[in-house]
Amino acid sequence: MTGSLRPLIAGNWKMNGSRATTRDLLAGLRAFLRESGPAGCDIVVCAPAPYLPLAADRLEGVSEIELGGQDCHTAVSGAHTGDVSAAMLLDVGCAYVIVGHSERRADHGEDSETVKAKGETAIASGLTAIVCIGETLEDRDAGRAVDVVGSQLDSSLPDGTDAANTVIAYEPVWAIGTGRTPNEAEIGEIHASIRARLLDRTEDGSGVRILYGGSVKPENAAAILSVPDVNGALVGGASLDATAFWSICQSCP
Ligand code: PEP
Repeated sequence: MTGSLRPLIAGNWKMNGSRATTRDLLAGLRAFLRESGPAGCDIVVCAPAPYLPLAADRLEGVSEIELGGQDCHTAVSGAHTGDVSAAMLLDVGCAYVIVGHSERRADHGEDSETVKAKGETAIASGLTAIVCIGETLEDRDAGRAVDVVGSQLDSSLPDGTDAANTVIAYEPVWAIGTGRTPNEAEIGEIHASIRARLLDRTEDGSGVRILYGGSVKPENAAAILSVPDVNGALVGGASLDATAFWSICQSCP
């Protein structure tokens, strides 16, 4: 963990839940906050777009938990049926948006140039972009994880990135939702390489947070979060359970 960077734990609910589970999950997190006080990290929950207004309502007055979207369009507005703009996310109370998640890259054919454009629109709209990058198992087995992640970062990084407007999420595709994770040395190697590239590419490279994502659970969170240059986590499955998510938030060093 880079000493001075405050960790960020981001929950990605993906396409899960309902009005009822949104209410329950946020009530659970609010109860933990009341009982234990702030967790020592920034917290964001990225709910499905239809539930963001309800989530914003349930988080009214809760400054410790911010809201995020799971994607936004490259355009500010217009004829893009079914899409959501960064400005709309901001309007309903979001502070963050995930761009370039591997599930969107796979399901919607998003390439890094599109991800970069989405990140730039998000930033211009006043959101912090969580830019996802990560290698496939084939890349890792072939020994090219560092190179693949590096070139994805180069082509996905929004112009104008700084510590306030961009977060990088390293998510090995083969670790997402599988229960498998790279070991700590492997995570450390990739995060160090991302940090070096950020230092090279941006003025503010030492301040940009780099999250690890992929099967983070209460059982492995403390070990992963203490790896150098791991500045938090992007959490999928475990963010759907208030107890598990809160436990991960409390695992930050
Ligand atoms: C994710 O969706 O970004 C993710 C990391 O999922 P999981 O924690 O379930 O592997």
